[in-house]
Amino acid sequence: MFDRPRLAFEAVFIWAESLELLLILRKYAIIKAVTARKDHRMAANSPAQQTLPEDTKPFVIVGAGFAGTATALHFLLKAAEDPSLSADKPLKLTVLERYPQQMHGGIAYGRVPAFEYNLNLSSKRVTPFAAGKKPRDLPSFEEYIQERAKDDPPFADNLANPSRQVYGQYLHDLIDAAVARTGGKVVLERKYDEAVDLVDTPQGTTVHLKSGERLQAAHVMLATGFKEAVMPKFAFNAAAHPQFLDYPYSHRANTFFDKLLNGPNNAEDKTTLVLGTGLSAMDTVIRLLDGGYKGKITMLSRKAQFHPTYKTFLDKSYMEAGLQGEPRPPDTLPFTKKDPDFMGAVRGGTPPQRVFKEMLYEFRKRQREGYTSEEILSHWEKSVPELFARMPEETNKFLAINETLINLLRVGTTPEISEKVFAAMDGGQIDVIGGTVRNIHAGNKGFVIDYALNDRLGRPLPDGEVQTRRFDTLISGIGNSTKYDLPPAQIGDALWRRLREKEAFQGHVLRDGVAVEHDFTLKNGDGTAYRNVSAVGSHISGHMNVTAYPYPEKSGSGARLGAFTLNISGILGAAIAFTDMKYDDIRRKMQPAPQNGLQHKTAYRSPGVAPA
Ligand SMILES: Cc1cc2nc3c(=O)[nH]c(=O)nc-3n(C[C@H](O)[C@H](O)[C@H](O)COP(=O)(O)OP(=O)(O)OC[C@H]3O[C@@H](n4cnc5c(N)ncnc54)[C@H](O)[C@@H]3O)c2cc1C
Repeated sequence: MFDRPRLAFEAVFIWAESLELLLILRKYAIIKAVTARKDHRMAANSPAQQTLPEDTKPFVIVGAGFAGTATALHFLLKAAEDPSLSADKPLKLTVLERYPQQMHGGIAYGRVPAFEYNLNLSSKRVTPFAAGKKPRDLPSFEEYIQERAKDDPPFADNLANPSRQVYGQYLHDLIDAAVARTGGKVVLERKYDEAVDLVDTPQGTTVHLKSGERLQAAHVMLATGFKEAVMPKFAFNAAAHPQFLDYPYSHRANTFFDKLLNGPNNAEDKTTLVLGTGLSAMDTVIRLLDGGYKGKITMLSRKAQFHPTYKTFLDKSYMEAGLQGEPRPPDTLPFTKKDPDFMGAVRGGTPPQRVFKEMLYEFRKRQREGYTSEEILSHWEKSVPELFARMPEETNKFLAINETLINLLRVGTTPEISEKVFAAMDGGQIDVIGGTVRNIHAGNKGFVIDYALNDRLGRPLPDGEVQTRRFDTLISGIGNSTKYDLPPAQIGDALWRRLREKEAFQGHVLRDGVAVEHDFTLKNGDGTAYRNVSAVGSHISGHMNVTAYPYPEKSGSGARLGAFTLNISGILGAAIAFTDMKYDDIRRKMQPAPQNGLQHKTAYRSPGVAPA
């Protein structure tokens, strides 16, 4: 058992059993007072009366998580600057979302959880604008927080430890402001329904809704995001048990935590096992601790590794502007001026295993020079598309094997998250196991878990016996799934199940998400491109892993690594690249064909407000 995993741990890249990268990550707990936050009711849209030409076809964005919202935002910004548009003949943008509480927030920033989770990044780093391109009349997230903190000073805590729901409120308000900015050139419809099928033709795409309605769209953006987590096989025995929670962000999770924290299982002699040690597992533990859970918590994952907390490295210049330990601007880091050395080996035809060894050597060298793992990896990301192009199979395997480790090295957590979890470890309320679950028996008295202990590389200990422990409560903090290459019966979402039945898409070669063209056009099952359907967001993570686009965190372009394909700046880069490439085409398809000078008009009332 690793009883103090936070002090230091080793992490390793394993490549074809021959390459090992030994890294040392240090973590320091941060003392930070927890401040209360005032709930902010989102301002409802003021519905506007506007007249739309009858034959205008909307651009329909399916899914209003971060990807759909970022696409809508950048589409609106382009329309606002477009001299060919006028308020007499407005375009119609429809944002379709199945869950009202997720409008402009999705899973991560929506209001489903009856709990305020934190972003893992400070407010500065979650800008929804490209670097240096924020319109002056729209607030940055920091400005938004500062403005609200004028009436409510503790709200300023969101600058360093932002609430994810506050971020969702910001995005919602920003979309309203961006619509206003178009001066009537775009009418926004927020529609609450679920897309369950679509048919693409040269004239446009028909979206079939769960309600039976059909939407005729000029263009469709599928921003449908994560599928809910696919449960690991070992958890099937627990599936129906009332003390088992498979997913911490659902409606069911609210009832589950409520019952647990206010029932007989919240007592000092009770125990909870949280599967995972990544960000979802940290969220789960925070929710237990904040809710006053009194029992013991065990966290179990294969390697028992945690994201480091920011404040690991001191940098005076950065201190003035944000959290300590967040990556410094690339133009202040000399090593980012040139490609990584190992790319010379790649271009010279060096065998892949040798390349990965050189990577290990270079990584250690950069760390000794004082660069953080996040700074090194975010610079290296730019080379991934070329690496993939030159040695696709090996790069594919390397990324798959090292996914967890890359995620850990690539980003940290804000102080408030790590402080609570590490303090509870110090106090003995939390222990951590590095092991592999072999079986779960669910019964009247909770769960009996069989697991084998692993070494710090996640490999079974040579003489390790299977251990057995009993827990009263079991929570999976393993996270979401982006695997689409599955038989239809295993796909939970109605839309993607239907498209799979029709063989109307193909999985990405990395096995993460679906395949798209470079301009984000969805690919059919036979590899041909759709006419009017695109995809951006979590479900194109494989594509984003190995394809270069400009992205907003810093200048330049590159792929993203691991989960950072899917984080705010990764998805934002894709949404901006999409609107840059496709805006003109979509706008043309949306504009009605001239009809002998006659335009039939229908009164249109922008709904804007979520149903009760
Ligand atoms: C819990 C959690 C926390 C995270 N925290 C951070 C963080 O702190 N920092 C960071 O940078 N990144 C974070 N991320 C990464 C995050 O995934 C992205 O930032 C982003 O939220 C993903 O957006 P998305 O739009 O692709 O997916 P989603 O958020 O899943 O949104 C998709 C939306 O589409 C809707 N939808 C799906 N299918 C249909 C349909 N057929 N019809 C109508 N609507 C549909 C869904 O209801 C959903 O609201 C987090 C992710 C999760 C899951």
